[in-house]
Amino acid sequence: MSFPALVEPADELTVDEVRRYSRHLIIPDVGMTGQKRLKNARVLVIGAGGLGSPALLYLAAAGVGTLGIVEFDEVDESNLQRQIIHGQSDVGRPKAVSAKESVQEINPLIEVVVYEERLDNDNVLGIFEGWDLIVDGTDNFATRYMVNDAAYFLKIPYVWGSIYRFDGQASVFWPHAVDENGESAEAPCYRCLYPEPPPPGMVPSCAEGGVLGVLCASIGSIQVNEAIKMLTGAGEPLVGKLMIYDALEMEYRKLKVRKDPKCALCGDNATVTELIDYEAFCGAVSDEAADAAAGSTISVVQLEHMLKEREEGTRDFLLVDVREPNEYEINKIPGSVLIPKGEFLNGNALGQLPADKPIVLHCKSGVRSAEALAVVKGAGYGDAVHVGGGVVAWVNQIDPSQPSY
Ligand SMILES: [Zn+2]
Repeated sequence: MSFPALVEPADELTVDEVRRYSRHLIIPDVGMTGQKRLKNARVLVIGAGGLGSPALLYLAAAGVGTLGIVEFDEVDESNLQRQIIHGQSDVGRPKAVSAKESVQEINPLIEVVVYEERLDNDNVLGIFEGWDLIVDGTDNFATRYMVNDAAYFLKIPYVWGSIYRFDGQASVFWPHAVDENGESAEAPCYRCLYPEPPPPGMVPSCAEGGVLGVLCASIGSIQVNEAIKMLTGAGEPLVGKLMIYDALEMEYRKLKVRKDPKCALCGDNATVTELIDYEAFCGAVSDEAADAAAGSTISVVQLEHMLKEREEGTRDFLLVDVREPNEYEINKIPGSVLIPKGEFLNGNALGQLPADKPIVLHCKSGVRSAEALAVVKGAGYGDAVHVGGGVVAWVNQIDPSQPSY
């Protein structure tokens, strides 16, 4: 289904703009009118990270007249493998500032508005107000549901993308879309596709599970493609459709996504009528893991002390790293043995645990080890503990000579 252009055309293009955008102007589906619409367009990009980097660069180059950037983080060396809007000399600088500079270098003819703050319930509606389109590059479920809901309340179309390892997805959520006859297009929102967040710990983040750098460009460029189509009215955008990309098979699949009449947000009897507590909705860890970790979490400083005592022979315990083997190759806490979390969940790990020593578990940040801890405690190891902050905290606080990821 095609939709009317979201944006009215600007009055005119300057001579500089005509020169710059000439390759757009000679495409019949864009042309002078389409480029004038882009000039008048206001697009807000959430995050200047993996997806936000290519999205911002291409939206800027395309001549989207006003670009917003919401980003509170600083550039880290581990970002540079994929977040191509930042460079080596930006490490340690605010991403919002670095992104703005790159965008203005690509195209000084556009306006850039920076929101150097973390999106939350208090600011999200105010920040979203007045933008034509939201392009989402967030990497966590709590923010994603908040962005979906806020965009819905303000009736702004929401171009969504997600990436993990070699897999990507993209769609455009716009329940307020109307067809050419002015009738509701019955288009879904993010909650129609994913009514519930995944169980905490089930879906690792890119920081936990990794992402192929170039996948960001594959999905980020689909988001820009769809944004330009929406702004100019060209083609058929991914409204009511989900694009699934498999980089290993090099396969794109497009699935139809229907509006869910029972959707809590955009359904007939909506229960979500204002912003909710998204952290609580998505949960940081499962209830079982949280229960297991309560009172059974040690710090990396405590662990270092315990490891010294073990070396001196005054204490004994088994330190188990529950990450995956490729993570173990990057960095490790000395003296740990590797038994991935899945081995605990399927029960195989329990046979490998000694009955006469306390068990200490750790992972990257403490989420997976809390889940494994719930299994271990359930199997009768009442004195088992896990390490809060995991190997990330170990590298930060104890051994900065090791790389982090
Ligand atoms: Zn919905």
